[in-house]
Amino acid sequence: MAELRFSALKEVFNREPLETKPPSKDVSKYFNSNVFDLHKMEHYLSKEAFSVVKKAINEGKSLTRQEADQVAIGLKAWALENGATHFTHWFHPLTDGTAEKHDGFIEVGDNGHIVENFSGAVLVQSEPDASSFPSGGIRNTFEARGYTAWDVSSPVFIVGSTICIPTIFVSYTGEALDYKAPLLKALSELDRAAVDICQYFDKDVTKVIATLGCEQEYFLIDEALYYARPDIVLAEKTLMGHQSAKDQQLSDHYFGSIPERVMCFIEDFECEAYKLGIPVKTRHNEVAPNQFECAPIYEEVNLAVDHNQLLMDLMRRIARKHKFRVLFHEKPFAGINGSGKHNNWSMATNTGVNLLSPGKNPKSNLQFLTYLVNVIKAVNDSNDLIRASVMNESNSWRLGGHEAPPAIISVFLGSYLIEMLNSIVSKVTEKKMTPAQKTELKLGIGKIPEILLDNTDRNRTSPFAFTGNRFEFRAVGSSANCGTAMIALNAAVAYQLVKFKKEVDQIIKKGRNKDEAIFQVLKKYIIESKRVLFEGDNYSPEWHAEAAKRKLSNISSVPESISMYLTPASKEVLIGSGVFTDKELESRVEVEYEKFTKKVQIEARVLGDLAINHIVPTAVRYMTTLLDNVKGLKDVFSNTEYERLAGARKELIINISDHISNIKKLVNEMVEERKKANIIEDAFRKALIYEKKVKPYLEEIRTHIDKLELIVDNEIWPLPKYRELLFTR
Ligand code: ADP
Ligand code: MG
Repeated sequence: MAELRFSALKEVFNREPLETKPPSKDVSKYFNSNVFDLHKMEHYLSKEAFSVVKKAINEGKSLTRQEADQVAIGLKAWALENGATHFTHWFHPLTDGTAEKHDGFIEVGDNGHIVENFSGAVLVQSEPDASSFPSGGIRNTFEARGYTAWDVSSPVFIVGSTICIPTIFVSYTGEALDYKAPLLKALSELDRAAVDICQYFDKDVTKVIATLGCEQEYFLIDEALYYARPDIVLAEKTLMGHQSAKDQQLSDHYFGSIPERVMCFIEDFECEAYKLGIPVKTRHNEVAPNQFECAPIYEEVNLAVDHNQLLMDLMRRIARKHKFRVLFHEKPFAGINGSGKHNNWSMATNTGVNLLSPGKNPKSNLQFLTYLVNVIKAVNDSNDLIRASVMNESNSWRLGGHEAPPAIISVFLGSYLIEMLNSIVSKVTEKKMTPAQKTELKLGIGKIPEILLDNTDRNRTSPFAFTGNRFEFRAVGSSANCGTAMIALNAAVAYQLVKFKKEVDQIIKKGRNKDEAIFQVLKKYIIESKRVLFEGDNYSPEWHAEAAKRKLSNISSVPESISMYLTPASKEVLIGSGVFTDKELESRVEVEYEKFTKKVQIEARVLGDLAINHIVPTAVRYMTTLLDNVKGLKDVFSNTEYERLAGARKELIINISDHISNIKKLVNEMVEERKKANIIEDAFRKALIYEKKVKPYLEEIRTHIDKLELIVDNEIWPLPKYRELLFTR
């Protein structure tokens, strides 16, 4: 077994960087070249078809059959010119990835000859077999069909020889089976609610979009080492491995110079990303060795989510070309930093205003404060829902870990804004305000600096931090489809904004003027949301105690976190706003429980296998060598000499033997616990038992293996060690 490890290491030493040539030095010359964007639509579509599509995009409408036929003609022309032979509906089922089923353009024509055909019917809708996708019991076994339907707001793109049409995915009976359908609903709810509030400030606002920029963190490891680690191949993380003597303690990787082979990989995937219209902008080394980050310029949320999914897929594919494997798992290596996907989120109007950016005068700043406070209130009221949206098996290794946000969802604002909110609380009165009081308040508000970036002294430990002109939702995991987080956040804010409008209008009805009414409600919200505002170190134990005092929940259990989707408060937000039906939400939660159970199950199986079939035999082999050695000593030396010399070896033998016995015992126990858990019918209870009874064995067993790694002869250790995985490239 150790041969695989050493031949892998040799292979890596001989690797050369694989340079790629972009089509042009100027990105602007080939950006979007593989996308059927508005520009190309204008060229390839008839005038009528083009204006219909544009309208559909702007208004979030779908196309009629005839309109779709028109669009299909132009799309087909573009596709064939670009060498496409196939098309697929590209969707986001409730797995961790995207799905595609390719169909050729070919059809048998009237005269029996093969022709290329692509109709409007297949452009807008398709009926893939849904039976093998997670559905949480929605899909009846006798009705396995699902429907995919074109999401016109996300443009068609081409990958290789396949045209990819972004679609939603619903069951035969119309329930969402994906992340996109509910996301689009949440975004349109937010649009409506936010536009309504904008009317208080600016009548020209007719559309509000939510914006998202995802900072994608990831690890790279060499392909040869990857194949020598079955745990990484099957679970995308190391299930064992002693900490490397040196890893990130010197902080010498963060923002360090990017290694050449890695740089070639990055340039390659960035080039492909540009062709697909993904505006990747920032790249840098992250904190842990072999950890990196890629961040695009923010876009409208739905598009940004699609682009992030596409980018992850692209990175996986391009990495193979460079003999790398990219790991999106939140915690591939114990003891060093994990990976997140910071979701930078804000809202923007059709008039070009970022609603979470301070403006130039009291009026625009009152608007800014209105949105700011409403977001805070939403995070306060939907605290459990927000956590549920980011909690899953792989992220649970990170959330609550010492370097990542804890499972307490709080909001960081920075001292300037905290003071601002405090002054609103102290200055706004229940009674009618005097003109002098109003002027004073507005003066203060008018003084908020336009650029707050420097005032929001970055708090890296907060799960939800205001960073000057947007919120950074940091608890999102690196492997997640951020659709889940975006559904929860946008739905919660939309719900909150609707409530806000009702409250303000009621006060206006009672005869108060608009500004005063807004102030009064804001004051109330600030007071009600106080508990969620936290400026200190979120990793500290004091915060856990403080949060408990504030009655902020701290739920690190994954199934329990997920179950919070079903609290009356969460249901009111998600079902009340029409983002989910009852059935959809329940089934989704079921899918999440099952995903959790299965992932722990896979990890337990892989660990059991490696422990018994790789580690124990290796340890036994080494122990046998030691035993032979001890016997040899006995043959050669006198009794007293022997006693003196053999002591340390005997101790080692006992030590190894104890670890072996412990591993065997623990693996057996773990198998028994799994057997007991597997017969539980209820998905929640099963997940809970997996978490409480099975998952702890993963840590316990690895402790013994990691100890063995330290004492067993390096020559025969079968698996690449942390120092090799993290520093060889
Ligand atoms: P950091 O210093 O937090 O690592 P990065 O430059 O890596 O920052 O990433 C910041 C992300 O925030 C980028 O994707 C950027 O486009 C995004 N961003 C900036 N403004 C907004 C906004 N108004 N809405 C959403 N995202 C934004
Ligand atoms: Mg960054």
